[in-house]
Amino acid sequence: MSFYEIDSKINIIPSKCSDPWFWTSAQINPYRGCQFNCHYCDGKANYYGIPKFGHQIRIKRDVIKTLTRSLHKLGYRKKSDAKQKKLSSFLSKSEILEEREILPKFIISVGGGVTDAYQNIEKEKEITKNIIKTLIEFEFPAFFLTKSTLILRDLDLIGELNDRSYAGVNISVGYSDEKIRRLIEPHSASTLKRFEVLAQFREADIPGGISMMPLAPFIGDSDENIDTLLKWASESKAEHALIAGLTLKPGNRELFFKEFLMKHFPQHVDKYKLIFPENNTYGIPKFDKIKIPNVTAIGHELCKKYNIYPRIKRYIPDGVIKENYLLVEHLYYVHYLLSWVNNKPHSYPASRIIKFACTIDKLEENIRDLSEDKREEFLDGPAFCHQIVDEYLKTKDNKIRKEFE
Ligand code: SF4
Repeated sequence: MSFYEIDSKINIIPSKCSDPWFWTSAQINPYRGCQFNCHYCDGKANYYGIPKFGHQIRIKRDVIKTLTRSLHKLGYRKKSDAKQKKLSSFLSKSEILEEREILPKFIISVGGGVTDAYQNIEKEKEITKNIIKTLIEFEFPAFFLTKSTLILRDLDLIGELNDRSYAGVNISVGYSDEKIRRLIEPHSASTLKRFEVLAQFREADIPGGISMMPLAPFIGDSDENIDTLLKWASESKAEHALIAGLTLKPGNRELFFKEFLMKHFPQHVDKYKLIFPENNTYGIPKFDKIKIPNVTAIGHELCKKYNIYPRIKRYIPDGVIKENYLLVEHLYYVHYLLSWVNNKPHSYPASRIIKFACTIDKLEENIRDLSEDKREEFLDGPAFCHQIVDEYLKTKDNKIRKEFE
C-alpha cells in the first residue's frame, strides 16, 4: 500500500437534486482510493479514473482550508464569524453573496461511494475529524457512510454536530456469513462489529441505520441473509435499512470477475456474464436472460417484520418550506417504489418524478398557496406527477404508495 499527498480541490456545489437514497447534495472525500478494497467497490470503475484503487491512497492536503473557503463562497458563515460580522474583511467583494438571515443548508456526505472517510490512514491523519470540527463551526448538516469501527472515535463530535444541526450515520453491511464477508470485503471490520458501532450511535440518540448495498447475486441475495442482517439491525436500533443489488461498471466488472468471482465462486461466472455483459456503461444488471431476486423488494417486505423504515427520514433544515420538503420526501418515496421495489430503475416515468420533485424543493412559497395555473407554470412535469401532488395535498397519501404498503 502506498500513500501520497495531493492538493485538495474541494469546491462544494450542491447538486440540483438530493441523492435519492441519502438526501445528500454534496460530498467531501478526504482521501482518494480506499484501503478496504472491497471487491465490488464502484470506485474501481474506469469512470472515476482512480488508478491502483485499493493499493494507492491519495491524501488530500489543505482540506479544511478549501472546505471553509468553499462554504464562505456559498454565503455560509461560522457561528463565531456571524457574531463578529467580519465577513467582508476576509473575502473579496465578488465573493460576498447577499447576506440572508438564514441560508437553507443542504446535507453534505462525508466519504462514501469511492472512499471510506474512516479507512485506517484516518487514525493518523485525522482529516475527517477536522472536517467534523469545521462543520460544527458552521453548524452544517452532514451524513457519514462507513464500514469502519474508527467512526466511534468521533462519536462525541458527530453527536455535537447532530445537536447543533443534523448528523446521521449509515453503516454499510451486506454479508451475515463471515466466511463470505471475509472473501468479498477482506480488509474491513466483521459485520457484527459494525452492528456494535451502530448500536453505540443509536444509544447516543444519533440518527442511523444500515445500507445493504450491494448484495451480489447468488452470494448475498438470499432471503435468509437479508433477514439476518435486518434482525441484527433491529437489535442495534437501526432506524433505516437501504437495500439494493450489485452494479458492475466497466473496469470494476473485469476486476470483480478476475480477482473475486473466478477465484472464489467459479460456479457463478457464466451466470454473471449474462447478467453483467461487457461494456455496460452504468453496470446495471440485465434480467432478460436470467432471473435474479429483487433484493430491494425482499428487503422492503422484511423491513415491515422488523419495524425498520426502508428509507432515511428526511432532515428538514431551517429556512425551507416544511410542507414542500415533506412533499418531496413523498415523491422520492414513490420513485423508490416504482423504480426499485418494482424493479425498474432508471425507467422514464420514475426518473421524471425526481426531476419534478427537485423543482418543488426550490420553490420559494408553499406549494399549497400556488394557484393551479401557477403550479402548471412552475412545475414542468408529466400529468401523473401533478396527480401525485394533488392527491398528496388533499390526503397526504397516494394510491401508488398504498399498493405497496
Ligand atoms: S469501504 Fe466503501 S469505498 Fe472503501 S472499498 Fe469498500 S465499498 Fe469502496
